[in-house]
Amino acid sequence: MREVIFTQDQLQQKLLEWQKRLRLQDWIISIKLVRERDMGLEGVQGEVFWVIEKKMATIKILDSIDYPPDNMEPQDMENTLIHELLHLHFAALKYDGDNHIPEEQAIESIASGILTAYREGVRS
Ligand SMILES: [Zn+2]
Repeated sequence: MREVIFTQDQLQQKLLEWQKRLRLQDWIISIKLVRERDMGLEGVQGEVFWVIEKKMATIKILDSIDYPPDNMEPQDMENTLIHELLHLHFAALKYDGDNHIPEEQAIESIASGILTAYREGVRS
């Protein structure tokens, strides 16, 4: 995997593209590049907050300045964006207690599957 870093403007464009591909166009979503100190959780590359009743959401993407250099994978903001968007498809589901791990695993697999297929499609 290679590094994929976007500017705020590019993120905005990618958000529109992926909202369309993932059929999330009825959501009102804002996106911003933030420093690690502005993330709610530590050690994450992205976060999403939503209000399901309003279908409104905010996505935060970690600024590459704060991406840990010793991370196993290079930073891929497009993958993070897809990951956070997919949470919106699951947002209405009832959780089994506080166990979010199966949801995270499903989202992670779907995100990389979609992105791989998309990039291979673009190349050929
Ligand atoms: Zn997640």
